[in-house]
Amino acid sequence: MSESNDKLIVTKIQDGTVIDRIPPGKALKILEILGIDSNYPYTVALAMRVASRKMKLKDVVKIRGRALTPQDTQKLSFIAPTATVNIIVDYKVQEKQNLKIPDHVEDFVDCINPNCVSNSHEPIVSSFDVVSKDPLILRCVYCDRLLEQKYLNREL
Ligand SMILES: [Zn+2]
Repeated sequence: MSESNDKLIVTKIQDGTVIDRIPPGKALKILEILGIDSNYPYTVALAMRVASRKMKLKDVVKIRGRALTPQDTQKLSFIAPTATVNIIVDYKVQEKQNLKIPDHVEDFVDCINPNCVSNSHEPIVSSFDVVSKDPLILRCVYCDRLLEQKYLNREL
């Protein structure tokens, strides 16, 4: 399939966000993370497993009228580290961001250790160091428990 066929599948949007080069099959998860469901009032275009020049297959999500928060971008980096985020203004790409897995995340997912102080009623938010990016491994700064990609895929 050629690039021009891709463009036929996925319509252009006037303003909003295009998330491109998503690992194949992850597009639905990304909409879920962004809180976009059937009640979202604007155009959302989603293509799964379209041909890509850089990857064999990719997913693409286009969301009209939605900008990503830094926390959205952080979550995306864990689920779809290869993705690029394009900010669209008046049908044109105004800014292109490559996702980058951060070295540290706070208040992101809960620690898996039920006895961890971050899971108590203390006013403490969860806090993790990223000890490995590929494969992805996070370490709780309070109890040293390790969190792997599988857990994040489930929890995010
Ligand atoms: Zn912990």
